[in-house]
Amino acid sequence: MPEFFPCNGTSNTIGNPPVVIVGAGPGGSVAALALAQQGIRSVVVDKATFPRPKPCGDVITSQTLRVLERLSLDPGRDLPLVQAQATWGTTCIAPNGKAVDVNFKPLHKETEIPSCYTLQRTSFDNYLVEQLRANPLIELQEGVGVKAAQLIDDRWQITLADGTQLPDTHLLLLASGCNSSLASQISNQSLPVIAKEDDRHFGVGLRGYFRDMGGWRQSGMPEFYIMRELMPGGLYLTPLANGMVNVNMVMRRDYVLKHSINLRDRFWEVLAAHPTLSKRFSPLTLEGQLQGSSLSFGTIKRGNAGQGLMMIGDAAGLIDLLSANGICNAVMSAEIAADVAVKSIKRQDYSMAFLAQYDALLDQKLGNDLKLGRLVSPFLGNERLFGLFEHVLNFVASRVQGGSVLSQLLYHPDVSKLLRSPSFYKQMVWG
Ligand SMILES: Cc1cc2nc3c(=O)[nH]c(=O)nc-3n(C[C@H](O)[C@H](O)[C@H](O)COP(=O)(O)OP(=O)(O)OC[C@H]3O[C@@H](n4cnc5c(N)ncnc54)[C@H](O)[C@@H]3O)c2cc1C
Repeated sequence: MPEFFPCNGTSNTIGNPPVVIVGAGPGGSVAALALAQQGIRSVVVDKATFPRPKPCGDVITSQTLRVLERLSLDPGRDLPLVQAQATWGTTCIAPNGKAVDVNFKPLHKETEIPSCYTLQRTSFDNYLVEQLRANPLIELQEGVGVKAAQLIDDRWQITLADGTQLPDTHLLLLASGCNSSLASQISNQSLPVIAKEDDRHFGVGLRGYFRDMGGWRQSGMPEFYIMRELMPGGLYLTPLANGMVNVNMVMRRDYVLKHSINLRDRFWEVLAAHPTLSKRFSPLTLEGQLQGSSLSFGTIKRGNAGQGLMMIGDAAGLIDLLSANGICNAVMSAEIAADVAVKSIKRQDYSMAFLAQYDALLDQKLGNDLKLGRLVSPFLGNERLFGLFEHVLNFVASRVQGGSVLSQLLYHPDVSKLLRSPSFYKQMVWG
């Protein structure tokens, strides 16, 4: 077994065993880079070999770009070099077919750097993994999964799928996504509250790449279709720089199970029945295969810190229910986890009580973004209330001013305050 980082025992930081990070998706990669920025070594293990595909909508939003900038990366320069395309908003299409453009602000007030890019995850994740490869404080192990992690006394003993073991560690950061069985195995040992497996808080998604046949409502702008047949959920179209379109569909798992929905059949049925989408997308313009994945929504607060353990990104259940965006929360949770890890290494305190600050900080920094999803989630489970929700969406879409009103929901520092304000609704109705 290779010796990754021999301990010299001279300094707290250098002498500590490396932090082990499971998963080199955006969450795991950013955690390792943020730790390295503060002089902390890590071993990152991913069962896949990069570049690897990941079913996603391929939309990289402003919060993610800001985290990359804080890591001294330059996404405005680097991402276009790996075929990212700038986008300045999203077109939302209500159930009645009316469209509303929601425009994004530039990343910084003083520059015109876009705040959002579309980029295939294969390329985005590989861009981050290249940063890991280039960093002397990070040891990346690809192509071998973690089979088991056992908490013995106050250290994690980690066994890989090929039977080898990593150096025992005080700190394990789990960024293995939401399809990972490892997460439940590990959380059973260390977490105070075990996340309840409740299907309302999970989704299922499908993604396919199609040749771009045009027909966009606004050139270069992703489209989000809210349709009765996909509720609770939606259909997203993302234009990409390479002449392809990412078509992806997400539905809440409880609804799919309750109605025995076959997601692939529903995907093709929805496209074929739609007056304009049927002309743009068919099995003939699909490149490769449809790929599926689960989503873990941040519609419930979970305990994500335990003895020597912090869960990051999808493993922590942080995807926004309404937009299906999860990359931003994965990288922001990674940044927070790295800060807490540094403090715990300095104090040599890896206890659950000390790491509990991670959960508090997650709530403080991500709670506002997840709030709207948490508020509407109960309505979406009830078919009668969904009827009401549909009317509201149709109404908002019919108002010309809808776009600017909706973009307030993206940028307001306190979404619940905005939703309690009568002027917000006045603006929606009268402009
Ligand atoms: C259909 C769909 C559309 C979406 N659209 C968007 C979008 O447009 N924008 C957005 O921001 N988000 C979107 N999301 C959500 C987004 O994909 C996730 O939130 C994001 O990938 C989370 O990153 P992560 O690093 O937590 O996990 P992941 O990206 O899933 O990375 C986890 C990594 O862990 C590795 N791993 C798993 N188990 C093990 C193991 N036992 N040992 C070692 N390695 C392991 C995996 O190989 C993987 O590389 C979408 C999701 C879906 C399904």
